[in-house]
Amino acid sequence: MKKLELHWQILIGMVVGLLFGYGMTFIEWGKDFVTDWIQPIGTIFVKLLKLIAIPLILASLVKGISDLKDISKFRNIGLRTIAIYICTTVVAITIGLLLVNVMQPGEGISEDTIATLTETYSNDSGVTSKLEEASRQKDAGPLNFLEEMVPDNAFAALGDNSLMLQVIFFTIFLGISMLLIGEERAKPLKDFFDALNDVVLKMVDLIMLTAPVAVFALLANVVVSSGDPDLLLALLKYAGVVLLGLLLMIVFYSLVVSTFTRYNPLSFLSKMAPAQLLAFSTSSSAATLPVTMERVEEHIGVDKEVSSFVLPVGATINMDGTSLYQGVAAVFISQALGFDLTFGDQLTIVLTALLASIGSAAVPGAGMVMLVIVLESIGFPPDKLAIGLALIFAVDRPLDMCRTVVNVTGDATVAMMVAKSVGKFGKPKVKNWDDNYEQV
Ligand code: ASP
Repeated sequence: MKKLELHWQILIGMVVGLLFGYGMTFIEWGKDFVTDWIQPIGTIFVKLLKLIAIPLILASLVKGISDLKDISKFRNIGLRTIAIYICTTVVAITIGLLLVNVMQPGEGISEDTIATLTETYSNDSGVTSKLEEASRQKDAGPLNFLEEMVPDNAFAALGDNSLMLQVIFFTIFLGISMLLIGEERAKPLKDFFDALNDVVLKMVDLIMLTAPVAVFALLANVVVSSGDPDLLLALLKYAGVVLLGLLLMIVFYSLVVSTFTRYNPLSFLSKMAPAQLLAFSTSSSAATLPVTMERVEEHIGVDKEVSSFVLPVGATINMDGTSLYQGVAAVFISQALGFDLTFGDQLTIVLTALLASIGSAAVPGAGMVMLVIVLESIGFPPDKLAIGLALIFAVDRPLDMCRTVVNVTGDATVAMMVAKSVGKFGKPKVKNWDDNYEQV
């Protein structure tokens, strides 16, 4: 019998995980059982993905740069990448703002619902920790992000997953210096990183073999730890607007992919599916990065010289789904709490959500921390911030899962566009869906 393709296996794992988690909510010991015995499987899987993220960025970026043979090519790729990232993010925020202004999900929300949500969540540790984190971030100066990007200890940066931009900085520095000392002298180091890169990609394949079981565990846990279903229902209109916006972004990417790169959009989406399913299950672009890189390079055919730079940078600074959500959420909260927004305020949202998407970490729930900063930028009353977050907290996790899918798909789209524009879009190494995994 033919083995079921990996993306179907992952999808089945997800559905069974959702049903299993839902079933467990009816059993008294169900939640504890999932937390003690099922959740660790998902946690181990996410740890394995994160474990290889830094070696992968290091190896693949050094290889990518040293293959370029010329620094001006790198500058060219860098500038295009940043410019396109800014454009896609502005498109995302604009779509979000248009939808939320037309559909006005906050207008109909009843006083009772607001009161219940406020009571349930405004003192919740999830909300308070996000407010604290936001105030820490806000205290930093305007050039703080540049300061933060430069490590003072390469090994400390390599040892900390949250310092991805520092790793990228160090690696680019290393790669450029290797170019400068010349091919012959850099050869031993280049061979080392080339081999490391192949080994890490093989590790991705091995880890992905466990993905169906791992997503089962991740989703079962999301279900048992999610909030009251009635409150989820109360926020259906708001969640619907965010989801519609995210869906439109996927349509936008498909159009961009077919017009700019002449790539079949359905084939693009199907090749990206394993990365998207993981983004959905883990809510983390950083954890998904190894798989995103593998899909874009080996299955879609983007040259490593481009993808090794565009994708890790994108995972940290390009979050289209997150910024769309921030636009919608900021306006929704304002509508629900009767805080009037001018056209100028909405423009401020575009700008701050753009910056917030650069500043948000690629981990679960980061978008909500930066939402606080977006709200503050439009003069939202500080004493109402906790209430504002409480309003949307119940649906934040499911929306986080969906916006992470868009974040990852956006990065892949930009990688393809940049590759096409610099003539680095070739034939994929792997033709069939599961070639990689079957060789393991
Ligand atoms: N979870 C998102 C990501 O990793 C960030 C966010 O929107 O919270 O891309």
